[in-house]
Amino acid sequence: MMLLLLLVMLAAPGLAQSLSVMGNPRQGDPLFVSVQGVPPGTTGTLRWANLRLELSAADEQGVMRTVAPIPVDLAPGSHPMVAELSDQTRLERRVPINKRPFPSQEIWLSEATLASYSTPQNKADDEAILEALKPFEPQRLWSGSFLLPCQAPQTTGFGAKRLYNGWKRSYHKGLDLAGWEGQEVLAPADGVVLHTAQGIVNGNTVVLGHGLGLGTSYFHLSSIEVEEGQTVKRGQVIGRVGGTGGFAPHLHWELRAHGLPVEPQAVLELPASWR
Ligand SMILES: [Zn+2]
Repeated sequence: MMLLLLLVMLAAPGLAQSLSVMGNPRQGDPLFVSVQGVPPGTTGTLRWANLRLELSAADEQGVMRTVAPIPVDLAPGSHPMVAELSDQTRLERRVPINKRPFPSQEIWLSEATLASYSTPQNKADDEAILEALKPFEPQRLWSGSFLLPCQAPQTTGFGAKRLYNGWKRSYHKGLDLAGWEGQEVLAPADGVVLHTAQGIVNGNTVVLGHGLGLGTSYFHLSSIEVEEGQTVKRGQVIGRVGGTGGFAPHLHWELRAHGLPVEPQAVLELPASWR
């Protein structure tokens, strides 16, 4: 009976295979990428913007997924995206990327605070976050769109170009929310706690993984209320707003796709087939 069913499936006309891309194709936004119409269990990688990204294995519906970052400095214009599958199939398309005008800010800090950005400890803090985000979780852990993790006005947006003390250039890798000291910080979506730390600049830090290459991080917390390895539910308190790392109290919220910072607002309203 099983064999008969298998033969019928093999004989069915093959579904058209496709490489589909959703999301806002702007510098710094995440792209929601799926491969459709492939045999369940197929594995593969996505080549995009000089990155090599893992795709989830094809599910029962023959769909593979990953969330691909558009680097903030990727040149505007048409870029190739290639899915290379375990059955040697190669699907290719081009994705037109639009320029995004990021605002500029000048920031003045004490030289001591600014110097802490360049310390080996701060670099180690950032590397530990990247390391925690590295393993690809092939399950989508979330459902629905993400919540704003803190009900507070947005101050500095993602991607703002920054000039510190007139000489040090950087850009803002997250979205700042002007919460008050002690205000609850919520998990915006189901996930797992990948990392917690007390950073020299980042302050008290929580990093969550949500699957398919997506992670979020939370800096400057006054308290951390989760532990590494713990699963969290959408809306669960993970910590409280603070100013640790030497800042006025606010929440610095980052969204990462395969480790690269992307626009957090992109997950507040996800494409329908990704909710
Ligand atoms: Zn920030």
